Amino acid sequence: MELKNKRVLVVGLGKSGIAAALFLRKQGARVTVSDSRSAVTLAKEIPALLDAGIMVESGGHGLLTFRRQDLIVISPGVPLDTPEVKQVIGYGMPVIGELELASRFLKGRVVAITGSNGKTTTTTLIGKILKDAGLPTLVGGNIGIPVIDLVPESKDGFLDVLEVSSFQLETIEQFHPWIALVLNITPDHLDRHGSFENYAAMKARITERQEADDFLILNAEDKPTQMVAAKTRAQIFWFSPRRPIKQGTFVHGESIVFVPREGAKGEPIMPVAEIPLRGAHNVENVLAAICAARLAGVPAEKIRASVASFKAVEHRLEFVRCVQGIDYFNDSKATNVDAAIKAVEAFPSGIHLILGGKDKDSDYTLLAPLLRERVKAVYTIGSAAEKIERALEGVVKMVGAGTIDVAVREATKAAVPGDVVLLAPACSSFDQFENYEHRGRTFRQIVNELS
Ligand code: ADP
Repeated sequence: MELKNKRVLVVGLGKSGIAAALFLRKQGARVTVSDSRSAVTLAKEIPALLDAGIMVESGGHGLLTFRRQDLIVISPGVPLDTPEVKQVIGYGMPVIGELELASRFLKGRVVAITGSNGKTTTTTLIGKILKDAGLPTLVGGNIGIPVIDLVPESKDGFLDVLEVSSFQLETIEQFHPWIALVLNITPDHLDRHGSFENYAAMKARITERQEADDFLILNAEDKPTQMVAAKTRAQIFWFSPRRPIKQGTFVHGESIVFVPREGAKGEPIMPVAEIPLRGAHNVENVLAAICAARLAGVPAEKIRASVASFKAVEHRLEFVRCVQGIDYFNDSKATNVDAAIKAVEAFPSGIHLILGGKDKDSDYTLLAPLLRERVKAVYTIGSAAEKIERALEGVVKMVGAGTIDVAVREATKAAVPGDVVLLAPACSSFDQFENYEHRGRTFRQIVNELS
């Protein structure tokens, strides 16, 4: 892709937008960036862009800015139905995302992971297994390192392990993973994708360009991912914690087994008991990661050692501390109802659950059966509090805590030794925090200050 002297507009100055703009400039493009936030809000980002010779528009998008561009690179945070964007798409102007841009320059083979939940954990684990096995591996994407930043390091023979979100998949064209994984598809981001069908269709795009010598790894226990199976030309491998699989990974008795092709004998990989992460959902993540690693050629013994020494990623059911017999767990990344369900399922009983934040049109009544069974009390925080209280009225004891420090304090008062205080809020964090990391760090700090 020739970029020299091309006019390129980057819309949205998130981490990936900034990285894309700087990359494009280095390639000799004439770059403009545009963001709806004010210059004051973007005060930290703007100087480096100007220094690089990039034109900056802040506080909204001028219609003229979108005219006469050769290419528009749109950030995952900017909806495609933003009026200015809709209009240029209507004119037939090429609009792609940073993932698509980067993938045109990446030299390695791509392993791409998507799903509603478990992406970061699985991506990190696959990256670790491949690296531990001595394969030249880069890890990036939605996980915090823009894919475009991998381009300078990516060489032939490398494996580029990429976490990709549904928003990034919305703006691909030629993106072509060698191994693609869809971990699960459960309702999330419906505020932006409109319907569950649209959201699922977006996830399915991960396999759109795959061919018969590529691999697609799918969750055999997750109905919506079966729709993805119907749309692929790649070889399908399934994973299941519950039943034998003809081609893929599954749990057989106490052990994880990999079947390389239909009719072949299963290879034992490792005992389930050696998985160092809590929760049944993490068994699924490990099954998916093992399948990918095996397809990439890593031998069973190496996979086993690598998985056994893996540590939970920060803010993902992360153990913080035990104070007077009460365990505190930080699952701030549980930003939707399904993730919160998985977190609660990881503990048999005695749970004090902190729920709330910014609502994403979620249905909290789905939590009711599990709360009745395992949760002693719910502590609500943030702007979704009232909706949650209404949805779960009469199900379990409710404490309207408002803020996370009140929630931790009230939960600590009520808990007895053996209980668990769990932050798994089922909401995004943007009403009270910068992001979920900020929320998780705040929780950790409050817990670490308990005496
Ligand atoms: P993502 O990157 O997709 O958000 P993470 O690995 O960061 O996924 O995990 C986010 C949260 O989702 C975790 O805190 C956990 O509560 C939950 N989770 C992790 N893996 C799964 C899974 N396979 N199925 C359902 N929930 C999961």
